[in-house]
Amino acid sequence: MRKKKSHSSICAEGVFKDLVSFDGNNIILDVSINIDFALNVEKAIKMPLNVYYVDNNLCCPVCGNKLKGYSTRSRTINGREVILQRYLCAGKGVCGKYVDASLDSFIGKWQRYTREVQQFGLNENLIDYSSLEKISEKAADRFDIEISRETIIKSHVQKC
Ligand SMILES: [Zn+2]
Repeated sequence: MRKKKSHSSICAEGVFKDLVSFDGNNIILDVSINIDFALNVEKAIKMPLNVYYVDNNLCCPVCGNKLKGYSTRSRTINGREVILQRYLCAGKGVCGKYVDASLDSFIGKWQRYTREVQQFGLNENLIDYSSLEKISEKAADRFDIEISRETIIKSHVQKC
């Protein structure tokens, strides 16, 4: 006889399914999921993945109508290329507004590094006044990314 799943595990699967899905070599993430998640999955399954971001709850900012997937665009985050879904307003009439899946939950609009990475550089410097070289090395260990000294300097003067 099959063992009945506990209620909590069913709920967890349901939530997970809405936020993360797989399609061949693609991992499709909701915009609320930090890119670190995809990188950790890659490490766990020992296979490179294409990272796609989608936002299924997006509405048109102009007319409030539903949006439909139209095309994609790429963006570099922490040195890694990801694909963002671009949506087109499906509203009646002539709205025609395009909206990209927004990653504002973990990275600033024009930034190349996540807030977490930027904050890491700031904190390291506040704690022990590490050299930029040292901070760069620590960031490489912590996030598995190469981050230039110039970027660390910028993160000290920019608001994330
Ligand atoms: Zn619209």
